[in-house]
Amino acid sequence: MSTKTYDAIVIGSGVIGSSITYELGRRGFHTLTVDRHGGAGFGSTSFSSAIVRFTYSTYPGVAMSYEGLRYWENWGEHLKADRGTELAKFSQCGMVTLKTTGGHHLKVLPHFDSIGIPYEDWDEENFQSHLPELDLRRFGPPKRPEDPGFWDEPTERLEGGLFTPEAGYVSDPQLAAHNLHAAAAALNCDFRFNTEVTVITQHGGQITGVELGDGTLISAPIVVNAAGPHSRIINEMAGALGDMSIATTPLRQEVHHVPSPNELDFEHRGFNIADDDNGIYVRPDVGNNILVGSTEPDCDPLHWVDADHEGQIQADQWEAQVLRLNRRLPDVGVPHQKRGVVGVYDVADDWIPIYDRTCIDGFYVAIGTSGNQFKNAAIAGYCMSELITAVENGHDHDADPVEVTGPHMGLAIDMGNFRRTRTVNPNSSMSVHG
Ligand SMILES: Cc1cc2nc3c(=O)[nH]c(=O)nc-3n(C[C@H](O)[C@H](O)[C@H](O)COP(=O)(O)OP(=O)(O)OC[C@H]3O[C@@H](n4cnc5c(N)ncnc54)[C@H](O)[C@@H]3O)c2cc1C
Repeated sequence: MSTKTYDAIVIGSGVIGSSITYELGRRGFHTLTVDRHGGAGFGSTSFSSAIVRFTYSTYPGVAMSYEGLRYWENWGEHLKADRGTELAKFSQCGMVTLKTTGGHHLKVLPHFDSIGIPYEDWDEENFQSHLPELDLRRFGPPKRPEDPGFWDEPTERLEGGLFTPEAGYVSDPQLAAHNLHAAAAALNCDFRFNTEVTVITQHGGQITGVELGDGTLISAPIVVNAAGPHSRIINEMAGALGDMSIATTPLRQEVHHVPSPNELDFEHRGFNIADDDNGIYVRPDVGNNILVGSTEPDCDPLHWVDADHEGQIQADQWEAQVLRLNRRLPDVGVPHQKRGVVGVYDVADDWIPIYDRTCIDGFYVAIGTSGNQFKNAAIAGYCMSELITAVENGHDHDADPVEVTGPHMGLAIDMGNFRRTRTVNPNSSMSVHG
C-alpha cells in the first residue's frame, strides 16, 4: 500500500541526515526523513566530542572543514532560528596540534598557507604563557599503562605546537542535530521517528522509494543513506555495494570525561589538544570538565563491532586514556569515578567520508564519517544537496566530479575526493583528532 510520495527520502536523522534534509528543503525538495530512534541526533551523533578543527591532511578536507567553521560561528543565522530558540553553542577555544617528528602538522601546513587559515607556531615560551601546566616532554611513541616504559621519565622535549585560534567545540552535539531537524521541519520537511527502513525499492536500476518496518511503502526517486554506523547495512539493502572500492565498518570508541581541578580551570584557560605523541585528543567541556579521546595509537587494539553496539566503559581503556592525559597535564589527577561514553564510528577504509551517488540511479550516500565529520555536518549537507541537484539534472559525476564552491569562503571543494570508487588516499592520517 503506497501512502505518500516525496521528492527525496533521507535515511537517518543524525547531524548529517538532518543537515542534508535541511539543505534539500531549502532547495524546494519535499522530503521525508526516517529514523529508528525517537528523535534527531540520538544515534552516534549523541556521543560526539564535537571538536571543530581544520587539521586535515588533504586540501579538500581542510577546505571543507574551514567552510564548515563559518556555519558554527553563525549557527542561528544558518538555521533562520527564531529568537529564544535554544541553540547548540560553539565555544571557540582554539586548538593546538603538538609537533612530533615528521608529524601531522607538516601535512596540514601547506593547505593552511594556501587557504590563508590563521595559525600560530608555538614554542616553549608560548606554552608557558598560555598553559604552563602542560608538560611538553616527549613521551611517545604511545604506550599502554601496563607497558613498563609507560612511566619512564623522558629526556627529550616536543618541538612545540601549531595553534589554530579559530578551532573549538560544540557543547551539545545532539542539540545541534535537533536544531537542524527543527529548521528543516519549519520548511515542511517531514520526519518519522521510531520508524525503521527495512527495504529500499527500485525498478530498472532506478530508486523508487522505501518500505518501512510496518509495511508502509513510501515513493521517491531519491533516497539518501545517512545511517551512520548502519551505512553498510543500508547499502547492502539497496544492493549498492557493487562498485564501491571503499568499505565502511563500525568501530567502537570511548571518550572519557574527567573533572578539571579548579586551579587549572581548563574550561576557560584550556583549548583542544591533538597529542599524537601520547595517543590522545583533549578538549575542554562546560562545567570545567575535560574530555579525552583516543587517536588510535598502534598499541591500542581496534574493536570492530556491530552497528548496534552499546557497551560500558572498559576499565583498562579508561585508565590508558586518563593516565595519558595525566602525563601531559599532571595537575588533572585520577578521579575515583570512571565517567565517559561509548560510541561507534562509521569508519571508511581511509578514514575519509564518502559523499557520493551510487551505481543505482537516485541512491546517494553520506557515510564513512570516521569519527570526524560532526564539524562538517552543515557544509556536508550543502555539498550533498549540490551534488544531488547536479546529478538529478543530468551531470555525470562519475566522469566529471562535481566541484562545490563553499558558500562562506568561496573555497573550491572537489567532491571527487569523497567518491565511493576512489583508491585509498595515501595522504590520509588513518586516525582522528576529534
Ligand atoms: C565517540 C565519538 C566522538 C566523535 N568526535 C568527533 C569530533 O570531535 N569531531 C567531529 O567532527 N566528529 C566527531 N565524531 C564523528 C561525528 O560525531 C559523526 O561523524 C557524526 O555524528 C555522524 O552523524 P550521522 O548523522 O552520519 O550518524 P548518526 O548520528 O549515527 O545517525 C544515523 C541515524 O541513522 C538511523 N538509522 C540507521 N539505520 C536506520 C534504518 N534502517 N532506518 C531508519 N533509521 C536508521 C540511526 O537511528 C541514527 O539515528 C565522533 C563520533 C563519535 C562516535
